[in-house]
Amino acid sequence: MAFRDKHLIIGAGPVGLAMAKAVKQHGLPYDHVDAGPGLGGNWRHGLYENVHIVSSKRSTAFADYPMPEQYPDFPSASQLLAYLESYASDHGLDSAIETGRTVTAVRPLVDDTWHVEIDGEEPRHYKGVIVCNGHHRDPKWPSYRGQETAPLIHAHDYSAPSELAGKRVLVIGGGNSACDIAWEAARVGASSDMSLRAGYWFLPKTFLGRPVTDLPIWTLPVALQRLILRGVIRLVIGDYRAYGLQRPRSKLFERHSTFGTEVLGYIAQGRIAPRPDIERFDGNTAHFRDGSSGEYDLVVAATGYHNSFPFLPAGMIEVKNDAVQIYGSAFPSNVKNLYIVGSNQPRNGFGNIVTPAVALFARLIRMQDEIEHPIGAVLEWQGDPLPETNLMDPGAAKREIWLSNRMLWLLRLQSRRLVHDRRWLGPPAEFIREDARPSDVQDVVPESRDVAAA
Ligand SMILES: Cc1cc2nc3c(=O)[nH]c(=O)nc-3n(C[C@H](O)[C@H](O)[C@H](O)COP(=O)(O)OP(=O)(O)OC[C@H]3O[C@@H](n4cnc5c(N)ncnc54)[C@H](O)[C@@H]3O)c2cc1C
Repeated sequence: MAFRDKHLIIGAGPVGLAMAKAVKQHGLPYDHVDAGPGLGGNWRHGLYENVHIVSSKRSTAFADYPMPEQYPDFPSASQLLAYLESYASDHGLDSAIETGRTVTAVRPLVDDTWHVEIDGEEPRHYKGVIVCNGHHRDPKWPSYRGQETAPLIHAHDYSAPSELAGKRVLVIGGGNSACDIAWEAARVGASSDMSLRAGYWFLPKTFLGRPVTDLPIWTLPVALQRLILRGVIRLVIGDYRAYGLQRPRSKLFERHSTFGTEVLGYIAQGRIAPRPDIERFDGNTAHFRDGSSGEYDLVVAATGYHNSFPFLPAGMIEVKNDAVQIYGSAFPSNVKNLYIVGSNQPRNGFGNIVTPAVALFARLIRMQDEIEHPIGAVLEWQGDPLPETNLMDPGAAKREIWLSNRMLWLLRLQSRRLVHDRRWLGPPAEFIREDARPSDVQDVVPESRDVAAA
């Protein structure tokens, strides 16, 4: 089959795998590539040793594929990888994945098809591209005076407790990775400090013996979720100030919350010292905003990640406040046959939302053939909002998916009205790959590589 009849899925992490299953079920031919050495994304090659999911196995499993009964409530990365491998093999997805293939450039052509460069290969010519490249890949660095003199790494570069052994460690940030690393440093390092710029919402992982992410609250209106969880925090943790921490200024869920109380327990034991924001570095010395200072052998910036698409033309997809500016969580309005999937972070595990979301996306990708404009342009025209945050309310998302599945007829109707309003003139000229006409790039898969699952 020709490349130009297929979509290319970039990324074989949890989201790319779920997307592959959905497009396969909807009879859409596709190819699937991943830069890593195998499928599984972060759970194979992106995370540190000893990491466990903080969302429960029930909220993290794909909605149609439970994790094994014998798994604990919070499985390890290797258990998650084994689960993803079974998912791929049970659905016949694994043989279609080309690993060790990094996509370096993706450009639209005049006819809304796509020119794709994969390092070291002849360019390919696809009908469309589905980007599932993950949102924990491109480190976000802090910016402090003198930090170039500090022994600074990003949490993305941290892989094992042996890197902390015997060291005086300062961790910047209070998210899930920050807490894991500070906790490991307290166990194997000489000392462990955490610099917290603001107050964080620390949630217990369990309540009354059940994972908090399994409590039947996540589909309630957000105000009610907040009320209940504030009660849980009060009962299990108490006032954060009792641990020497600041009270959060933002509302619960306005920023990513942190699951787990291990760090709080270690603070109470004096094994982790909370510190305020850093003012500047001077070599191994960190000067904090309260006038105090500390000497460190290693500083780990657990300061998050950018949502980014380095293979797309600059300016094609905007990201504001970490929120990718696309409609319906997948659809750009300025180009056709390009889909960005998985750029949002659900409050609990990925699986519950990803499964129904990709099924809807696959239906819409099929529908794109009947629609002149990009689906995102129709959504924009009918007044759908752009996202203001990358944090996703799972209950609201499920309701939107349910409704969207029943309103596809309206989208079709709106697309016809849009055509009357203005014609689609193709992708913006500045993004088009001018030196590659549709006929110039390789569009037939060499026989030995034709792994499309139609
Ligand atoms: C420390 C940590 C803990 C976490 N804990 C949880 C948790 O408890 N629960 C939860 O639900 N989520 C958790 N996550 C979030 C995690 O990112 C998701 O679980 C999940 O891995 C996201 O899936 P994904 O497919 O979108 O991205 P990824 O798993 O990142 O997969 C993306 C894939 O795309 C590939 N790729 C990227 N660029 C290219 C390219 N140019 N060419 C080819 N391939 C490319 C990568 O190689 C990668 O394999 C955690 C993340 C971190 C960092």
